[in-house]
Amino acid sequence: MSTSAPPITTMVSLVAMQFMLYAIGWLLSGLLLRDERRAVLCWAGFMACIGLGFLLTSQRGEPRTWLAFNGSGVAFIGGLLLLWIGLAAFYRRSRHYREQLVTFVVLAGLLAWMGAGVEQAPARVLLTYGADMWITLRLMTTIHSAVRADYGQRLAVTIASPAVLIIAAFAVPFGRQLMDLDRPVEIHRFDEANLRSLYLYMVAAAVFNFGFMAVVTHRLLARLRDLSHRDALTGLFNRRAIEQELQREWRRWRRRRDGFALLSIDLDHFKQINDTHGHAGGDQVLIETSRRLLAHARDTDTVARTGGEEFLMLLPATDMRGAALAAERLLAHLRIHPITLGGIAVQATASIGIAQVMEGDADVAAALTRADRALYRAKSEGRDRLVLAD
Ligand code: GH3
Ligand code: MG
Ligand code: MG
Repeated sequence: MSTSAPPITTMVSLVAMQFMLYAIGWLLSGLLLRDERRAVLCWAGFMACIGLGFLLTSQRGEPRTWLAFNGSGVAFIGGLLLLWIGLAAFYRRSRHYREQLVTFVVLAGLLAWMGAGVEQAPARVLLTYGADMWITLRLMTTIHSAVRADYGQRLAVTIASPAVLIIAAFAVPFGRQLMDLDRPVEIHRFDEANLRSLYLYMVAAAVFNFGFMAVVTHRLLARLRDLSHRDALTGLFNRRAIEQELQREWRRWRRRRDGFALLSIDLDHFKQINDTHGHAGGDQVLIETSRRLLAHARDTDTVARTGGEEFLMLLPATDMRGAALAAERLLAHLRIHPITLGGIAVQATASIGIAQVMEGDADVAAALTRADRALYRAKSEGRDRLVLAD
């Protein structure tokens, strides 16, 4: 060993401390977050196990103890299995508990049986790094399709990069050991390749931890954004969400002039439904009506609940005739199929005002006002009907 350089065990224990700090970070996140807690706590366990593995490695010396030489391998393998479980939970992939348990029992059993002697070192090195590579590959294949679906090909490659880095870090000592079975390639032995491996573990750990912190934050923000755009009772878009959509559609229309139509919808005599069936019954009618509105909408349409029993539908690239056809189909459906509430059929019809965006409109509110005025006429002309705005 070089006399000027610090012993490699010092560096290994620093790496151990780094992993332990990451473990504490994930543990705190797991305690604070309710969403994704399972995955985050698994990652805390992953980091703690790897930290423990390095801590045990830093204790290596004479006499060779089982804990320092084989126990560390068990900790590394257990840690990677926890990472796998956490990632599968985070990306809602199927669980592989049996495979994971069998892998752990077999490998830990082999390591326990092997003994810590220097003569078994090459076999132990091959077994440990081989298992590490295998588990990392398995976890990548488990989440691969979900990651690609979530972020697209390019970002998925970025997310996979720490795993690839780690496999490379495992492959180097594995390959060196395989080529020279007489000389043990143990990580606590001071040489350039071992040092490089340690650096690589540190970099990969930082990339994984900060990367997944960002991924978790991104997911929580997306969930929050979705919540703030939805009506709690029906799950439809709320007024705020459809107003944004209207502005977007307005700008598109000014560029492309392909028009859009608005359906202003209000349920008929809804107060009576509430009075007869109670507020909870009224809520059920709202939920079922929302489901039917969605079922009648095209993929490109936007359906929102803008008030108590008021709805607004935005139909892109649709003229008056198309909008009237859609509205007539919807009205007929509501008329013909009563909603059953506790065995009682409830007739819940609607009135619809239809407007189309027009050349002279100063803004989207102009079209909205026309749709509302048409709705008002539909009400006064007897309800359960549609009226086209002038
Ligand atoms: P019209 O045919 O003229 O539209 O008659 P209407 O009874 O539907 O008229 P109005 O718009 O005045 O009544 C709407 C009722 O909807 C009044 C309100 O108590 C009820 N309502 C508003 N929000 C909710 C809700 O979230 N759940 C339930 N169950 N009822 C609601
Ligand atoms: Mg009403
Ligand atoms: Mg109303």
